[in-house]
Amino acid sequence: MKKIIVIGAGLGGLSAACRLAKSGFDVLVLEKNETVGGKVNSVEAGGYKFDTGASLLTMRHVFEDLFNFCERRIADYLTIEPLELICRYFWSDGSRFDASGDLRKTENEIAKLEPRDVENFRKYLADARCKYEIAEKTFLAHSLNDLPKLLRPKYLKDLLHISSTKTLAAHNENYFQSAKLRQVFNRFATYNGSSPYKTPATFALVPFVEFGLGAWYARGGIYEIPRALERLAKEFGVEIRTNCAVEKIVVENKKAVGVQLENGEALKSDCVVANSDAVETCRNLIDQEFFNEKLDKREPSSSGFVLLLGVKKKFPQLAHHNIFFSDDYRAEFDALFRDLRPAENPTVYVCASSRTDATQSPETSENLFVLLNAPHTNSKTDWKIEAKSYRDLIIKKLESFGLEDLGESIEFEQIITPEDFENKYRTNRGSIYGVSSNGIFSAFLRVPNRSRQIKNLYFVGGATHPGGGMPLVLLSGKMAAEMIAKAAEK
Ligand SMILES: Cc1cc2nc3c(=O)[nH]c(=O)nc-3n(C[C@H](O)[C@H](O)[C@H](O)COP(=O)(O)OP(=O)(O)OC[C@H]3O[C@@H](n4cnc5c(N)ncnc54)[C@H](O)[C@@H]3O)c2cc1C
Repeated sequence: MKKIIVIGAGLGGLSAACRLAKSGFDVLVLEKNETVGGKVNSVEAGGYKFDTGASLLTMRHVFEDLFNFCERRIADYLTIEPLELICRYFWSDGSRFDASGDLRKTENEIAKLEPRDVENFRKYLADARCKYEIAEKTFLAHSLNDLPKLLRPKYLKDLLHISSTKTLAAHNENYFQSAKLRQVFNRFATYNGSSPYKTPATFALVPFVEFGLGAWYARGGIYEIPRALERLAKEFGVEIRTNCAVEKIVVENKKAVGVQLENGEALKSDCVVANSDAVETCRNLIDQEFFNEKLDKREPSSSGFVLLLGVKKKFPQLAHHNIFFSDDYRAEFDALFRDLRPAENPTVYVCASSRTDATQSPETSENLFVLLNAPHTNSKTDWKIEAKSYRDLIIKKLESFGLEDLGESIEFEQIITPEDFENKYRTNRGSIYGVSSNGIFSAFLRVPNRSRQIKNLYFVGGATHPGGGMPLVLLSGKMAAEMIAKAAEK
């Protein structure tokens, strides 16, 4: 039986581990942290539960596909529930917009903002669906190592159809009359840590994922997902060692043959799957002989600034997912990606899972997970100095949007900065979605799932193909596992 070492127990690593173990490989996962899940993590304190990373579950079928592959029923591991009210959007002039999976409800909401945009929304969603369906059978189904296959006439026509030299913001401006709706649809660029003013219009497919395929929640919290994958992996004999950091991937004759741990131990394997951030892996875990300068310079995705707030008060105006928009979206993204500074008037995302799941906070309280897009770490911001004042600005902003006495009602609080993301998960400059998609060719420039330089070395996770976000990293694990299984057949 071939031995595989997986570096990192993020969702990409766990996805690869489950599939490889089910296919008969002997799999060992090495994780530097105490728990599995990587950036999908959680904190429990004072009766409050918080997911500290992902909060929105999309593309449920990708999770089901993993369990189906393992011949298990997902329902025996996870309770995944739909959220009909996907997200509540707030603006500083007091207006609101409820995005719902029930499209008639969404259209009614759109009509309140701009009646002409109801028809525009229908057309937009039809286009988004078409884009998604093409991506599903090309980018989301094939590794970048299959690029020659993707460039065959069968796929090329479709790829050209969804490719665009236009930005997402320009695309949305073409469709919608309402500046508010443009802002809503521009926001989808942040789902891969990018700017709507730079990311290509291809990403207009993302709204179909939410409106067409649905928004979901894992009862008990999103952290139930890595827990379920850990259980699944162990059922197939995967060994998971936590508190176990890899120092180096051992390469002999341009072939990965194992790893060396930070404690000095050397472990041999037939293949290595790196779920550690791909850019960091190339920088720090592989001999400099293989140093990839272009990859080193690739723009990281945005990072995040997070407040976990246990609040002894109910805010009935909140939905499960909420967005409090900035007044000037362009200025916000200029700050994040051009000036590399936290935005002065930021858009604030608030997840109050206590609104739909009573297990997440005491009965008369809310567990608020507050997330802002932040620039990747750089010398212009020392979060040890600035975190407190930025926290105060956010609390003030939320109070000004009607979350009265928020500051006074906080009884538990924790701040997570970009520096924390960088240090805890060893991500490239604190990026939370891997590399950015701020460029027309960005989708082609991600790290492929099989190394082109080192045999038997594979990459999975947010900085690799097909991208960041939970479902996509699960797909990266699938692609790597399939290539390993195929290579073993030879
Ligand atoms: C605040 C935040 C909000 C998000 N919101 C959403 C959302 O709503 N929906 C969504 O789908 N996605 C969301 N995401 C993105 C999503 O969580 C990530 O894209 C995904 O979980 C990343 O998985 P990954 O496979 O890349 O592994 P990671 O989570 O990056 O895990 C990699 C693991 O490797 C370990 N590691 C690194 N180096 C070593 C080493 N040398 N030795 C051993 N172990 C090592 C790390 O400790 C880590 O556990 C969010 C992320 C964050 C941070």
